[in-house]
Amino acid sequence: MSNYHIKHLEEYYQVYRKSVRNPSAFWEEIAEEHFMWRKKWDNVLSWDFSKPEVKWFEGAKLNITENCIDRHLFTRGDKTAIIFEPNNPDEEALHISYKELHKRVCKFANVLKQNNIKKGDRVCIYLPMIPELAIAVLACARIGAIHSVVFAGFSSSALAARINDCDCKMVITSDGSYRGAKTLDLKSIVDEALKSCSGVETVLVAKRINTEINMVENRDKWLQPLLEEASTDCEPEIMDAEDPLFILYTSGSTGTPKGMVHSTAGYMVYSAYTFKNVFQYREPDVYWCTADIGWITGHSYIVYGPLCNGATTVMFEGVPNYPNFSRFWEIVEKHKVNQFYTAPTAIRALAKEGVSHLEKHDLSSLKVLGTVGEPINEEAWHWYDDNVGKKKAPIVDTWWQTETGGIMITPLAFCTPTKPTYATLPFIGIQPALMDADGNELIGNQVNGNLCIKFPWPSMARTIWGNHQRYKDTYFSAYENKYFTGDGALRDEVGYYRITGRVDDVIIVSGHNLGTAPIEDTINEHPAVAESAIVGFPHEIKGNALYGYITLKDTGESRNQDNLRKEINQLITDQIGPIAKLDKMQFTQGLPKTRSGKIMRRILRKIAEGDTSNLGDTSTLLNPEVVESIIEGAK
Ligand code: ATP
Ligand code: MG
Repeated sequence: MSNYHIKHLEEYYQVYRKSVRNPSAFWEEIAEEHFMWRKKWDNVLSWDFSKPEVKWFEGAKLNITENCIDRHLFTRGDKTAIIFEPNNPDEEALHISYKELHKRVCKFANVLKQNNIKKGDRVCIYLPMIPELAIAVLACARIGAIHSVVFAGFSSSALAARINDCDCKMVITSDGSYRGAKTLDLKSIVDEALKSCSGVETVLVAKRINTEINMVENRDKWLQPLLEEASTDCEPEIMDAEDPLFILYTSGSTGTPKGMVHSTAGYMVYSAYTFKNVFQYREPDVYWCTADIGWITGHSYIVYGPLCNGATTVMFEGVPNYPNFSRFWEIVEKHKVNQFYTAPTAIRALAKEGVSHLEKHDLSSLKVLGTVGEPINEEAWHWYDDNVGKKKAPIVDTWWQTETGGIMITPLAFCTPTKPTYATLPFIGIQPALMDADGNELIGNQVNGNLCIKFPWPSMARTIWGNHQRYKDTYFSAYENKYFTGDGALRDEVGYYRITGRVDDVIIVSGHNLGTAPIEDTINEHPAVAESAIVGFPHEIKGNALYGYITLKDTGESRNQDNLRKEINQLITDQIGPIAKLDKMQFTQGLPKTRSGKIMRRILRKIAEGDTSNLGDTSTLLNPEVVESIIEGAK
């Protein structure tokens, strides 16, 4: 038996060693024993990072939905696969069993086929977090169509760019969506986008908010009546291991979004295996990841990973502050959530509101807490640990990327001793390397460098849709024979990794390389500070100096800003050294964020440099209005 479920640290080290000593043998065993194949592979792995070309389980035949659904029908048919928690707490939650999911996916798949969608066609899914979203994703996978989910908060131009980039033939959307107290008119955003997308033949529209919408004849069709008539039988399309499963665009924190292409077999094996081990999922646990399926976190750890393990996964339509800041905790209590996975930005926003919201709810079901998306600062980590997990639920700080398909550096809950701000150890099979500026690998511990991965793993993206050269240039050109992540990291004395931020954001002050995360972490420890972001700006003597944008907690009392500045710089001096002191500090109402909640340092850097003429497209931000106020405040 292969070690599908690792249960303690020693076992982790043992399995890790096995996985890197003979990766092919290791992954072959995992794949063979825990998944359903129509035909086994001829070759486990072939790779060449110079092209770059990577193939896992070549020659194998499968359908991922058979692994996510069909194989559970006998053993778990009546078990809840998806719990849908609506935006409005007064609307009833929905429990979709594996049997029901199977029916609904088959029906949806038949509707796709009737509308001329075939294996290999691209289908854009622009839906809110309603069950139809997960079902549409699986329906595409059922018939071998390539899904491209676009977060349903993006503007029409952002949507159009993504539809055109991969030539989608169909868009699946809804009449609208609920987001907190607001409704969003999704269909009109789609209509606007499609003015510049000539390749789209059909738009399927799910009814969610029951508003009057415009339906274009011969193009737009209501989804529900088609589903009602469709058959519940749909034989899965038999796919090759390396057939593309989906395209997903990166958040665009650092430039134009890249359409990462993920393939079928390797992605399935890795997302399922990481899910089981990182979160230590055991039946009948209820698992909840608060991400949107529009991000990779939702693909791998709301849909594919959990379902492949026969888990119960929660899908939440709403937002953390509607009808009030207790919403998350109310859901944890209501569904007795055992594993809870969210982002640092959400944790900081909730912490800012104080603990009274938590105290009203029974959170004793929580066994494991997770975080992803950005470095988590120490204060937020402790807040999460103390108040949400009551110091009993380990925090898995999971570092990974859209490109990696699955979690790469992370504690395994209950196995790996955690350490605040550290993503800790590489997952099974992952071989990280830290590189210096001259392209040498840094050997040993207590080193700091650029984070690369030096051996393929099953769920790595295979290319950027339509632009293999960009894939090569972005990830495989900085260092020979290595995947370059774009992030910096340090390895401490026991071999734990801490992500220090993006390499592009490293600031060189008087010849010292300063990562953004550790400095922000220190600033955030000040009791008055809610959130911060630092960037560099040109300085005559030091080359660069540090500019800090700082959001304060809303305590109701007014604060002397000069004193605050002094206290913050004193903290930095004490904890990091005078080299990291901020030359400028601006107190702001908020920080510009991507739709996935990451701080957009690119924009802050321009403002710090005094160059506000060309900030790029700020309309895709979560909070574009904050940019104006920051520019005003910087004057
Ligand atoms: P783009 O590539 O378009 O700039 P993006 O990098 O923000 O967008 P994602 O793939 O969603 O898009 O994010 C991956 C990045 O998020 C990582 O490279 C890293 O910088 C950051 N990140 C994710 N998880 C963690 C974590 N646990 N700790 C620190 N950083 C993290
Ligand atoms: Mg990135």
